[in-house]
Amino acid sequence: MCPIKTNNDAVVIIGAGFGGLSAALTLSHQKDKPNIILIDPKEKFVFTPLLYELLSHEMMSWEIAPTYVSLTQDAGINFIQDSVISINTQDKIVQTKQGKVVSYSKLLISTGSKINDFDIPGVSEFASQFKSLNDVKNLGSFIDEINIRDSENKDLVIVGAGSSGVELACKVSDMTSGKINIILLESNDIIMNGSKFFNREIALKELKKRGVKVYLKTEVKEVKSDVVSAFSIQDLNSSHSLFKYKMLIWTAGVKPEIPEITPQVNTERGRIIVDQYLKLIGSESVLLLEMCLLYKANRYHNPHKLLLSKAIWLQRIFIYLF
Ligand SMILES: Cc1cc2nc3c(=O)[nH]c(=O)nc-3n(C[C@H](O)[C@H](O)[C@H](O)COP(=O)(O)OP(=O)(O)OC[C@H]3O[C@@H](n4cnc5c(N)ncnc54)[C@H](O)[C@@H]3O)c2cc1C
Repeated sequence: MCPIKTNNDAVVIIGAGFGGLSAALTLSHQKDKPNIILIDPKEKFVFTPLLYELLSHEMMSWEIAPTYVSLTQDAGINFIQDSVISINTQDKIVQTKQGKVVSYSKLLISTGSKINDFDIPGVSEFASQFKSLNDVKNLGSFIDEINIRDSENKDLVIVGAGSSGVELACKVSDMTSGKINIILLESNDIIMNGSKFFNREIALKELKKRGVKVYLKTEVKEVKSDVVSAFSIQDLNSSHSLFKYKMLIWTAGVKPEIPEITPQVNTERGRIIVDQYLKLIGSESVLLLEMCLLYKANRYHNPHKLLLSKAIWLQRIFIYLF
């Protein structure tokens, strides 16, 4: 093991996505800024809302994915490219995959999410995602195959008709001039659940215009190397439908990605329970952001209000850490 020499006042931030990076940059602008250590296994930050433009070559990868070194060095943030495997809240240390041990006075866990396959067989093995530069590259190759080589197998199945799945279906259809068969599977009875009625209607029209086949109330049961097996929630007695695919993209959900914490903490549905200040219950120096946390609402506090905007939680980081 290789302990990293840190002052006892070091603020360690695990995960440099939107949450962790914004927190690190916000702290770095304070007058008496602490020693800030930001840890993430990736070399580059990815501005996810522009991944679609990267796919269609309207933007270049250097425009949407700057290196962490370029983002942090002038701000005086110590960036460690590594993955945290465990946190010890008693000793106030985190341990990384490469064997580093980093001590902290305050810790911010902002490790985001990973694919939620709901334990459906075959999903983690065969389904792709659309969240990294590599995912864009793989989908780009599939699109090139259709456009350039006019490949015979043109079936793209997207599971999950939330905003990501819908936008992706429209983008791929446009890029292949409708040559591709796009199937969108959704377990809900509407697309883009949570969006306004007006937006859902527009999205449905756009999907229809492009010939995207949308199957609502359809739940995936199993995925094999070239076929998705799903059943209709409406008619449980009906036999499974089989959807053949050349490429399968899973946009049906994510779950928190949390390093091991000792002593063990209380969780509910995979989420760590925090107080109204986003602090880990029982540990004054650990703060959690976004996906990892679950705030148990009581009659005095409203969890949605708590997380209403970035501004609010950044303010909370500031209030808490200083
Ligand atoms: C294609 C696409 C388009 C999107 N468009 C929008 C949009 O228009 N508007 C919007 O609001 N949201 C959008 N989102 C969602 C947005 O990207 C997420 O809400 C946001 O990334 C969440 O930020 P985060 O910091 O919580 O997690 P993440 O951005 O997922 O960051 C978590 C970071 O933690 C790191 N990490 C994980 N485990 C460890 C570990 N053990 N040790 C160290 N580091 C670790 C990961 O490498 C990652 O960099 C989009 C997402 C996608 C995929």
